[in-house]
Amino acid sequence: MRQTLLESLTHGSLTEPAPRPDEAALDELAKCVDRAARAKLGRSLSIRQVDAGSCNGCELEIHALNNAFYDLERFGLRFVASPRHADVLMVTGPVTKNMREALERTYNATPEPKWVIAVGSCAFDGAIFAESYAVAGGVKEVIPVDLHIRGCPPSPTELLRGLLALLQHVSGETT
Ligand code: SF4
Repeated sequence: MRQTLLESLTHGSLTEPAPRPDEAALDELAKCVDRAARAKLGRSLSIRQVDAGSCNGCELEIHALNNAFYDLERFGLRFVASPRHADVLMVTGPVTKNMREALERTYNATPEPKWVIAVGSCAFDGAIFAESYAVAGGVKEVIPVDLHIRGCPPSPTELLRGLLALLQHVSGETT
């Protein structure tokens, strides 16, 4: 035991430090998303996250948008608890047969205008779970999807870029 304690004191950390994103670029990206949301909606953006059967890897990246490091609420982006308060549904995972109806009901409960972002490779086409007896398919098999953000899982920066691309696209459609 003493040996282990001495080794832990002399060896330092064995884990690698987390890669630091370019904070200035990230802040600018988040501000762009907020500006685009205000131009389109007249207010900031509300997002409802729906786990339709994911392994939770994608959720960890989505939750990171709200943690103390990224802290995107300072730019007005908020995650909401009800689809009735949401502009965007962020759906993760292959849609399992058990979650199919819940996803359809969540989509139907979200007021117009609404947009759906399928997050992660599983949400695109089921990825490695596509052949499972329990999987209905990618998100587009169940509800209309406006944007896919591929990756396993996509990083918070990629999620922000996706949100911005979506808002710029829908703003372009109506102007
Ligand atoms: S894309 Fe990767 S991280 Fe996301 S749910 Fe699928 S396996 Fe998990």
